[in-house]
Amino acid sequence: MYKPILEIDLGKLKDNARVEKELLAKHGIEVMAVNKVFDGCVETAKAVLDGGIDVIAESRTYNLKKLKDALNCKTCLLRSPCLSEISEVVKYADISLNSEKQVIQALSDEAVKQQKIHQVLLMVDMGDLREGIWFEHVDDIIETVKLILSLPGVELYGLGTNFNCYGTVLPTVKNGVDFLHIARKVEQACNIKIKYLSAGNCTSYHLLDKGIWPEGLNHIRIGGLHEFGIEYVDMKYLDEFHHSNKPVEKACSDMYKLYAQIIELNSKPTVPVGELGVDAFLNSKTFVDHGTRKRALLAFGRQDVPAESCIPINDNITVLGQTSDHTIVDIEDVSETLRVGDMIGFELDYTALLMACQTNGVEKRFVY
Ligand SMILES: *Cc1c(COP(=O)(O)O)cnc(C)c1O
Repeated sequence: MYKPILEIDLGKLKDNARVEKELLAKHGIEVMAVNKVFDGCVETAKAVLDGGIDVIAESRTYNLKKLKDALNCKTCLLRSPCLSEISEVVKYADISLNSEKQVIQALSDEAVKQQKIHQVLLMVDMGDLREGIWFEHVDDIIETVKLILSLPGVELYGLGTNFNCYGTVLPTVKNGVDFLHIARKVEQACNIKIKYLSAGNCTSYHLLDKGIWPEGLNHIRIGGLHEFGIEYVDMKYLDEFHHSNKPVEKACSDMYKLYAQIIELNSKPTVPVGELGVDAFLNSKTFVDHGTRKRALLAFGRQDVPAESCIPINDNITVLGQTSDHTIVDIEDVSETLRVGDMIGFELDYTALLMACQTNGVEKRFVY
């Protein structure tokens, strides 16, 4: 039976994890590897662990179960636990990101039952408007830390913040230092030293790259950097890392290649013949006349991976479009002879990788 192949280069992933770990360690920054784009893939988590990063983070508890069962590694749940999954969270996550007192209380009760100590990374919202206690409510942050300190089943792993998600707020020196000041106030009020100040995701790396990282922030949760070798704020490749040779704006990587089979090969006009309506996704389309061109129909579609996130490995191939189960590519300028049954390859960006790892319609293959 046929499925398109997602080929993942575990050797390069491992190298990138090692480079990232060492680069950050030089500045006294601890890193947690985010595996969520691979949807709980055990092999990619293992590659990153082999590269020397020792905590694997996922946003879904069922994926942490998979990783705990297979690798018995230290795990972190990136999304706040749901009240309906507290027992599984305590069982499969050593750490979780939190912002609700009620959830923290429930985690502690359950951890006592399971005779465990669950680590809480308390989130502060510095302006991006997703999770976390609002940065102006310092008393509330202090009160929540005091609650964590008073509960028998939980421990404070650290204070964390996140940028560049819902609100697309960039991590800057200002919001980094503001976060640091909140942490210092909490430390004074609670008479503690907070172990980790978790500065954000891979976008925070640009501060380190520019040499303006706020000293004192000592933790970061990263996926995209070791997965793509891209610094995402200025959109540039980091040459210490494996990365694509394609223009950086494509944001793809040759560490993730999708191969799909040719099921039809012919020459057709570039403009449809007849009156035009809308496609299955209710979009109306316009077509530019490039005359009659050689094209190939490929056996994968929008239902699997969106084509605008797939960059043909062969620069002479262009994507014409996609329907639920088909992708159409222009091969007029390809010099070698293509045949029905041949595979056409694409490098994937983050969105395509995410989709390819989620769908049952794509098969993973690993290279080293
Ligand atoms: C996804 C996520 C990250 C990591 O993001 P990358 O862009 O992959 O580095 C970090 N923190 C939280 C809370 C996340 O949800």
